[in-house]
Amino acid sequence: MSRVYNFSAGPAVLPEEVLQSAADEMLDYNGTGMSVMEMSHRSKAFEKIITEAEADIRELMNIPDNYKVLFLQGGASQQFAMIPMNLMKNKVADYIVTGQWAKKAYQEASKYGKVNKIASSEDKTFTYIPDCSDLPISEDADYVYICENNTIYGTKFKELPNTKGKTLVADISSCFLSEPIDVSKYGIVYGGVQKNVGPAGMVIVIIREDLITEDVLPGTPTMLTYKTHADAKSLYNTPPAYGIYICGKVFKWLKAMGGLEVMKERNEKKAKILYDFLDQSKLFKGTVVAKDRSLMNVPFVTGDEEMDAKFVKEAKEAGLENLKGHRTVGGMRASIYNAMPIEGVEALVAFMKKFEEENL
Ligand code: PMP
Repeated sequence: MSRVYNFSAGPAVLPEEVLQSAADEMLDYNGTGMSVMEMSHRSKAFEKIITEAEADIRELMNIPDNYKVLFLQGGASQQFAMIPMNLMKNKVADYIVTGQWAKKAYQEASKYGKVNKIASSEDKTFTYIPDCSDLPISEDADYVYICENNTIYGTKFKELPNTKGKTLVADISSCFLSEPIDVSKYGIVYGGVQKNVGPAGMVIVIIREDLITEDVLPGTPTMLTYKTHADAKSLYNTPPAYGIYICGKVFKWLKAMGGLEVMKERNEKKAKILYDFLDQSKLFKGTVVAKDRSLMNVPFVTGDEEMDAKFVKEAKEAGLENLKGHRTVGGMRASIYNAMPIEGVEALVAFMKKFEEENL
């Protein structure tokens, strides 16, 4: 067996221990004589899996008691609609647009009410995070929306915006569980799990209880109402059961690693190796304003499209996979999520050094 270093932005690398443990349990989960894929979501065995998964994520993220944790389907994109449908009581929301995912969320919400783009970094191809300390927050805004880590552009909010008392909603898909956050600062924090947490097909929504109501926009489907899932403890219908099981294993892996403070230190160390190299390189350069750099997604370019393509091709041959930048921006991007070992980043930098020597 030979595994590559996989720098994919998502679906992405998972901890080997988790994959191995799932493989060991594939045919017979814990003496049940069946795989988790084959068992009823109402069985005792699955009930234990989902209960433990919730307890573990609560512990890892220090989630206050007045928040619900929902394991849902539809990916992060479904939340782009679910959030306005459930939260728009005044039919007004403020969006900070720092990349394509925030823009898509903004466009989707615009179908349901008056949506204001109160800040944007589109003027410089989303290479920075705008100053959000004193934005024109709407008096009657139901919430203020951000995408906290911008997967495509490699920027991250280092400070949360000043929402002037309004509910903050954040997409944390690409920085989920990469460092501690203060959940109490958000009304909703959510993420697709296929980057830092588990297999695709599932989104985790952490939502303050007072935001879970029957007072949703007329016509909101039952399945898109938070209350449906909160009341049924994510078992209103068949949940993404295998995904929940793998996420649960990742939570246990994170706890064994020492929790989110330790992951943050590890992630800072990994990102520094790559950014330090980029900052002195004569061939490669990072594309993001230094203070807004993401710990998870690191875009870089040579400035020459042919050279970029050569790099991606030769890196792949050297076992460094999925380094091509997003199709809309080009260049390269290394996603270095929790499960990317430090050796992977060191191997990438060693390869970049060699490539630079050969091509300058
Ligand atoms: N938000 C962010 C920050 C993302 O990176 C992505 C996916 N790359 C999405 C939302 C959309 O996720 P999904 O494909 O799960 O709908």
